[in-house]
Amino acid sequence: MAIEKIMVIGAGQMGGGIAQVAAQAGLQVVLNDIDMTLIDKRVAFIDKTLARNVEKGRITAEEKQAVLARLVPSTDLQDAAGVDFVVEAASENMDIKAKIFRRLDDVARPGVILATNTSSLPITEIAAVTRRPESVIGMHFMNPVPVMTLVEIIRGIATSDAVYQVVEELARTMGKTPVEVNDYPGFISNRVLMPMINEAIYCVYEGVAEPEAIDQVMKLGMNHPMGPLTLADFIGLDTCLAIMEVLYEGFADSKYRPCPLLRKMVKAGWLGKKSGKGFYAY
Ligand code: NAD
Repeated sequence: MAIEKIMVIGAGQMGGGIAQVAAQAGLQVVLNDIDMTLIDKRVAFIDKTLARNVEKGRITAEEKQAVLARLVPSTDLQDAAGVDFVVEAASENMDIKAKIFRRLDDVARPGVILATNTSSLPITEIAAVTRRPESVIGMHFMNPVPVMTLVEIIRGIATSDAVYQVVEELARTMGKTPVEVNDYPGFISNRVLMPMINEAIYCVYEGVAEPEAIDQVMKLGMNHPMGPLTLADFIGLDTCLAIMEVLYEGFADSKYRPCPLLRKMVKAGWLGKKSGKGFYAY
């Protein structure tokens, strides 16, 4: 089945980015959220982003209008009945995602692939709430979606080869580079990134060095564009802690234990850039 019309669930920062990139690739996009004002806000944001691209000569004003015209708002999951593919980017919460996937399974045509952009929840567990686990898959975009070229494509235990191939092809259509991953905690991205960030936090906790020094070592010595503590502040320390918990529980291995300083900062409400304070002040 050719994929011409997709539904993106969640008009947050990730869902908005996925919707924009898909519409720019020529797909019809039904953008779903629980509240129309959230969708309006996101479409206005995409409009502004595209306007900047017009100013910079990257796209024409006509192309911008065509992209916006391909975005159709929706507050009803029943609209999934008319699409060829669904990617869910709602809040990172198993209960919310399970509810959405149960509904999608009832509404979407048989054989329609249901993808999730989750950064840490098991694809296999999400798939298990449906009667089509072979058609459920992880499609993990990076933030900001229009800029970052990677998509981790995560196969649940039951995901079929045919479904994997379709999603790989779709990622390429959207201008992304797919990487195949099996479903284990943290996939590749967060399994490698988060323990590094956690270890950098241990360095602060144990008084090895100040945050600035740790970030400088990783930037100048390892050629990272951003130090791990700056990156942690950008991601959100609550998100970093949640992902470490997933790794710790998922592998039952003490090497993934979250640093006590990370826990303490999250308890204090020091969540990084979004709260104005983390390892740095904003
Ligand atoms: P966000 O909070 O910006 O957006 C989530 C959106 O989902 C909100 O607009 C919310 O109203 C909507 N939503 C909640 N319940 C819904 C429902 N039942 N139906 C429809 N919409 C609903 O979050 P985000 O950062 O865009 O993250 C979304 C997903 O992407 C999460 O699973 C997250 O783990 C994943 N992700 C995030 C990042 C990141 O850097 N932020 C990167 C990769 C993947």
